[in-house]
Amino acid sequence: MTTATGAATAAHAGAHACCALANTSHGERIEVKRQDGKLGTPAKSVDGRPQERRRQRHALQDVAAKLLPGERVHHCRRTPTGSAVSIHLTDGRAQIIGLQTCGALWVCPICYQTIALARRDELRRLLAWAKDGGYVPLMLTLTVQHHRDMPLRWLLAGLRAAKKRFHQSRNWRALRSVLVGHVTATETPCGKNGWHVHTHTILLVDVADEAQALRLFSGLRTSWEKALQAEGLTCNDHGFDLRGAAQAGDYLAKWGAAEELALSGEKATKGRSPWQLLGIAGGLIPDDLFSDEDATARWLEYAAAFRGRRQLVWSRGLKNRAGVEERSDEEILATPELCPDTEIARLDREQWRAVVRTGLRIALLEAVEAAGADGLRRMLAAARIRGGP
Ligand SMILES: [Zn+2]
Repeated sequence: MTTATGAATAAHAGAHACCALANTSHGERIEVKRQDGKLGTPAKSVDGRPQERRRQRHALQDVAAKLLPGERVHHCRRTPTGSAVSIHLTDGRAQIIGLQTCGALWVCPICYQTIALARRDELRRLLAWAKDGGYVPLMLTLTVQHHRDMPLRWLLAGLRAAKKRFHQSRNWRALRSVLVGHVTATETPCGKNGWHVHTHTILLVDVADEAQALRLFSGLRTSWEKALQAEGLTCNDHGFDLRGAAQAGDYLAKWGAAEELALSGEKATKGRSPWQLLGIAGGLIPDDLFSDEDATARWLEYAAAFRGRRQLVWSRGLKNRAGVEERSDEEILATPELCPDTEIARLDREQWRAVVRTGLRIALLEAVEAAGADGLRRMLAAARIRGGP
């Protein structure tokens, strides 16, 4: 049973990386906050340490895979697509080719990151195109008032129906001639009062300046309130929030960092993002708002409600007009063609499965990045995984 012992030791080393992550990315910071009453240094873990960010994503993905055992996320970057996987080292970064990807961006932090970065790039290109064309970007946030016991699926359906009415309202139709297009993202943090479902929409408006655009579109507030009422919903003063280009830029800057921020220790007073719920559910984040069980129940509800939804919804024809090519999530995730020269090793199916079983996915990547094929060989030997590259 030397294999099992060696694997257990190495697995502990792997697990230790997660412990360190848990300590540095929230435990310490939260202690600091409690002791001296300050917020402490903001989000050290998102300050450009790619290895730590990758560890966080893998730690979160492990929790998601455990909570959704029958789903694709369980196989993502774990199950080989063929009889072997190849390990590449390109510009100091290790990659494993030949593994399944799930594309379940709402529940898989690894796929989420790849897709979100590509979508952010599309939004950037859209805003650059708008700037060239002299169009004014606005940021419209629409919210539904909610209670603790409202199911997420019900809120999403209500929001969707209200938005449909809103787009059919006389006021909205009257503005169509100056509305070049729009792109919408739906977000749903969860707080004491339940799901805070809201949408952020970037509107591109063909008018002389921002002041005019704001003036024109602020008249839509009553249309939104009426649309909600017709669906049996309400909103408060913040239910319709219209801002200028600066807000759209801020939103873009934060886009794609949600799963990194989840473990950074930064928490809004009002609620937790789905990634934070996942971290709380897995015991990675201590929390005073949700117990592990409550966070698990909320996150599973979210995972079911968001399944199959697109990350961004573009108005018809806008991508084409802006010269942004249509790309599916699958196309974004498709394995990149890597130069054969960058391959440093291959592991057969059994070897790779041993790596996954012992929780050494991250340890393997880091060993390769630290010392190439030698590092890999040493790591496999320490874990008593037979063979070697
Ligand atoms: Zn995935």
